Amino acid sequence: MTTYFNYPSKELQEELSRIAKAIVAPGKGILAADESVSTMGKRLADIGCENTDENRRAYRELLFTSDPKLAENVSGVILFHETLYQKTSDGTPFVEILKKRGIIPGIKVDKGVVPLFGSEDECTTQGLDDLAARCAQYKKDGCDFAKWRCVLKIGKNTPSYQAILENANVLARYASICQSQRIVPIVEPEILPDGDHDLERGLKVTEVVLAAVYKALSDHHVYLEGTLLKPNMVTPGQSCAKKASPQDVALATVLALRRTVPAAVPGITFLSGGQSEEEASIHLNAINQVPLLKPWALTFSYGRALQASVLRAWQGKKENVAAGQAELLKRAKANALACQGKYVAGSIPSFAGNTSLFVKSHAY
Ligand code: 13P
Repeated sequence: MTTYFNYPSKELQEELSRIAKAIVAPGKGILAADESVSTMGKRLADIGCENTDENRRAYRELLFTSDPKLAENVSGVILFHETLYQKTSDGTPFVEILKKRGIIPGIKVDKGVVPLFGSEDECTTQGLDDLAARCAQYKKDGCDFAKWRCVLKIGKNTPSYQAILENANVLARYASICQSQRIVPIVEPEILPDGDHDLERGLKVTEVVLAAVYKALSDHHVYLEGTLLKPNMVTPGQSCAKKASPQDVALATVLALRRTVPAAVPGITFLSGGQSEEEASIHLNAINQVPLLKPWALTFSYGRALQASVLRAWQGKKENVAAGQAELLKRAKANALACQGKYVAGSIPSFAGNTSLFVKSHAY
């Protein structure tokens, strides 16, 4: 075995690390608005709206033209390919609107999950083949970071060694391709909350999965200072009878991360994973209050937990745009406080605050 390799040039290292640090600047996190066309269709169906190009565009216009104060709490937005090339009704590209507000555009680059043959309903994520060319184009078109989601499931026999290794490797390969094109990769190995496993099982599985991910990133010479991790929080399974307190969830989450994520990683941006908006804020807050050394920024990259109230307030109606935007600002503020350990539970009520956003075997 040879250990020869080159890290990226000094300039590239600096560029990647500058972008990553800006995304996890104190009091800031990410709005994940990268729902695919079909996932967006489900969100629109929930509020009785048809899944048309125009409805998807109008909804994203609502998000991105919110009060510019949003940028005080949101550093980056993850877009879906279609959205990256859409414009506001007055013809301004969304990317321009975001940049003008000081928000960094990012892009989902995976092409979704496919089954792992012979496994117990496990999967891997595809999209590597033309990834370098797509990243080069996305960088030209204004994106500075990317997201790739892998999915692992907890069951009696899962996650299997096959799924753990395969997903770690595909994430590492994705990360190295992104960095070669001056794009910061967000590495997302999501362990689904489905199942009746307890908190301890969730903790152990998260540790094993993250350990494999960081071994693979090392094998692929990924420059860690220019990456971000997007993990699940460690919770008991959705159907576990024994519930955990926010403090239990926070401690288990921080333990899993401390045992596996190198201090070179600048930030950890959690997914909300079907938690209610309020729960996601309370858990993030409790995580930031765990009295242990936490060498990374710990913040949010929420999809459902930043948008559920927005969608319900909007209802697809022009006259409700301002109401929807107000909900976005409220949840962004709540999570900005939470990522500094300063959120007081219940202090920022929102439309869908306590509604569970859990979707069985969630696909994005
Ligand atoms: P949720 O916050 O809705 O889990 O989604 C975030 C995301 O980007 C998952 O890939």
